Amino acid sequence: MIEKRQFYINGQWVAPAASKDMDVIDPSTEEVCAVISIGDQADTDAAVAAARAAFPSWAETPLEERVALIKRLGEIYTERREEMAEAMRAEMGAPIDLARNGQWGSGSWHLEGFLEALSKFNFEEQMGADRIRKEPIGVCAMITPWNWPMNQVFLKAIPAMAVGCTMVLKPSEIAPLSSILFTEMVDQAGFPAGVFNMVNGDGVGVGSQLSAHPDVDMVSFTGSTRAGIAISKAAADTLKRVSLELGGKGANVIFADADEKAVKRGVIHCMGNTGQSCNAPTRMMVEQSRYDAAVEEAKSAAESIQVGPTTESGRHIGPVVSEVQFNKIQSLIETGIKEGATLLTGGLGRPEGVNSGYYVRPTVFADVTTDMTIYREEIFGPVLAITPFESEEQAVEMANDTVYGLTNYIQTQDDDKRLRMARRVRSGMVETNGISRVNGSPFGGYKQSGNGREGGVWGLEEFCETKAISGVPMS
Ligand code: NAD
Repeated sequence: MIEKRQFYINGQWVAPAASKDMDVIDPSTEEVCAVISIGDQADTDAAVAAARAAFPSWAETPLEERVALIKRLGEIYTERREEMAEAMRAEMGAPIDLARNGQWGSGSWHLEGFLEALSKFNFEEQMGADRIRKEPIGVCAMITPWNWPMNQVFLKAIPAMAVGCTMVLKPSEIAPLSSILFTEMVDQAGFPAGVFNMVNGDGVGVGSQLSAHPDVDMVSFTGSTRAGIAISKAAADTLKRVSLELGGKGANVIFADADEKAVKRGVIHCMGNTGQSCNAPTRMMVEQSRYDAAVEEAKSAAESIQVGPTTESGRHIGPVVSEVQFNKIQSLIETGIKEGATLLTGGLGRPEGVNSGYYVRPTVFADVTTDMTIYREEIFGPVLAITPFESEEQAVEMANDTVYGLTNYIQTQDDDKRLRMARRVRSGMVETNGISRVNGSPFGGYKQSGNGREGGVWGLEEFCETKAISGVPMS
């Protein structure tokens, strides 16, 4: 059993102010795999004070020195890749190959993207006789979810460190092990005391305390829309910057002339990471003339997806993260059936032959109408909803008929239509014809998917204030 009760404050591993244990459950076994502590106001205050004290000198540290420490952190992250993969496997149920590759790799990918963006980033530029400066915003609280643990931590901690901010990380209490390990790596890299602090805790405790804290200048949050609203309200009294990366219900619009792999690709993408991605294409919309064929293809694509143990190598999907998520997904599948959607494959209960672990059957519904719950709510599990459409106009209307606006997907070989559609859908990202966005491209949403933009230059700007200075032009 792993015991990780300490927090990292001012460059030291310290005991929590009060003794409040919390179990970490391995979702593949439903057994306790680790115990952590849940922080108190005193822990939050100590971490924020350490970050506040470290801010002036870190902000003044030459960029090359900050970058050298970040690069060292990147090397350690690579050296300890297997440990990191095992932490994510155990805490959130990623099959080991996904943990080693996609999950681990997202961190190093973002680090590379930020180093590239930094090489082009103008911390100072001239505008007429003015000098315009980008300065670090100050002390940042980072509150992260469990589904892509290192992806989120790298998207926040690396740009904040790079521009000269100091920070307190509160990772998800459900999946804290990878962040504890990340913190060990920060310590090993030799960052000055107080630049990076980590306190474990839950949302109502440390999460709310950080959001309301008068000495925190910014909260960078990734997680549910529900928590994003609570954080915004808690932060309002101190008018700190709140950057939000929230949920999604992405449309995947497949026109009749889409390439032949479009349906299969959409199913695989939706089910990846066991459906636990905010940008998953969960609403597949298919042009009527291709609908019947697409339904058959989607069924067979979902049936080809294996569900399997997290400790075994392979391309299978693992369990969902927790009993709460398992029950929520079961209840939404049940609602889909009751509301009259056609269950093509999957459905209630665990996959055949599986008796424990939070394993869900890859599930596809067809004939889903826009008023159905499974069309409207983020399910966050391996569940796809398919709906037909008649015209381009109707496809736009359906794609935008959601409170979310994170990523939409367009599949057509007509380039004019592809761009027209991409312009009309209301989302921060549009991916077309299965082509992924490039490294350094901004990640973020419209509407209730949030207001932040992470990654690349936009991700650096998130952690900066802009200052205009008159009369001191650059020489
Ligand atoms: P969650 O909102 O329950 O928890 C996320 C984090 O917020 C955790 O650290 C939690 O302790 C904290 N938290 C919860 N309530 C809080 C409160 N009132 N005040 C302060 N902190 C609070 O979300 P989750 O279940 O961990 O993650 C899944 C959600 O995250 C999904 O909705 C998913 O779409 C979203 N997500 C979004 C992105 C994105 O970039 N847009 C990326 C990944 C996940």
